[in-house]
Amino acid sequence: METDRPDPGLYPPDRIGLAAAAARAAGLAALLLTPGPDLRYLTGYDAHQLERLTCLAIPAAAGEPFLVVPKLELLAALASPAGGLELEIIPWDETDDPYALVAGRLGDMAGPMGLSDRMWALMVLRFRDALPGVRQDLASAALRALRIRKTPAEVAALRAAGEAIDRVHARVPVDFTIVGSGPNAASPHHEISDRALQPGDAVVVDIGGTMPSGYCSDCTRTYVIGAPPPEFTAYYRVLQGAQEAACAAVRPGVAAEAVDAAAREPITAAGYGEFFVHRTGHGIGLECHEDPYIVSGNAEPLQPGMAFSIEPGIYPGRSGARIEDIVVCTEQGHERLNHATRELVCVDAR
Ligand code: ZN
Ligand code: ZN
Ligand code: ZN
Repeated sequence: METDRPDPGLYPPDRIGLAAAAARAAGLAALLLTPGPDLRYLTGYDAHQLERLTCLAIPAAAGEPFLVVPKLELLAALASPAGGLELEIIPWDETDDPYALVAGRLGDMAGPMGLSDRMWALMVLRFRDALPGVRQDLASAALRALRIRKTPAEVAALRAAGEAIDRVHARVPVDFTIVGSGPNAASPHHEISDRALQPGDAVVVDIGGTMPSGYCSDCTRTYVIGAPPPEFTAYYRVLQGAQEAACAAVRPGVAAEAVDAAAREPITAAGYGEFFVHRTGHGIGLECHEDPYIVSGNAEPLQPGMAFSIEPGIYPGRSGARIEDIVVCTEQGHERLNHATRELVCVDAR
């Protein structure tokens, strides 16, 4: 159970209706959503992923949506924002077959079922057996366009997540031991070895986490222990310029790949192109990595409400650096959700 109640504005009651319309437009007959970000997005229910089936079924055309839950989860479902929706919640007993229950309620399906991208294979296969001959597709075909544009309430939740990580980074130069221990929900994004830090080390500190609202944060700063290693200061300046240029490129109508190019060009021009070995960014919301991806080949135009990381890096070998902020595309241009200093911070060697 969550102590901080999420902003009720995060879960407007019309989302299931919008999802049904989107499913219809995508040629799906129904959406079947098990616990995960899709279910949470549509209902506010942060359900446990169990071997027992919890599933929101949304017929695309005729028929009302319904939520099937194991009887022992009924109170949790009713206590969640889903309990406040006009949504039939159907508990099933231990000896019931919940897949047959869902299939029976849906009746004859005149098109494929859209399954949540994160549904367990266990459930995918059971639904295949319960609805023989019905093609299985991904629910993201319908839900992507809804989830990719954040509402003002979602942007506020992402902003709060960004502020939480800014506070962690503000403490890093003060007390470097916080890295790896971290406050609530903060954890290093990538594996850290047990090698002791030494003077002259550059340390890439990538911190992400999930707030009680369900919305994620992800922010990287690079710190140097003592004096910077040779060449570091030069390529860190290039990186700072590249990250600025990519953020400045964000506005409606600009292709996602153009933002990647804006980060890559100055790095390549300075001779470090081969050391920028990953895409510039990833979307963020209820998932820490989601659409849109800021990568060469993604020509999708940015739209207001899209939220994503801008995180170019340069890794020439023994040392490396990355600067990452979450940015939201706005009507006017963009808003950064992280404000921790991007200047090079040297931490005392102890
Ligand atoms: Zn990552
Ligand atoms: Zn990160
Ligand atoms: Zn990231």
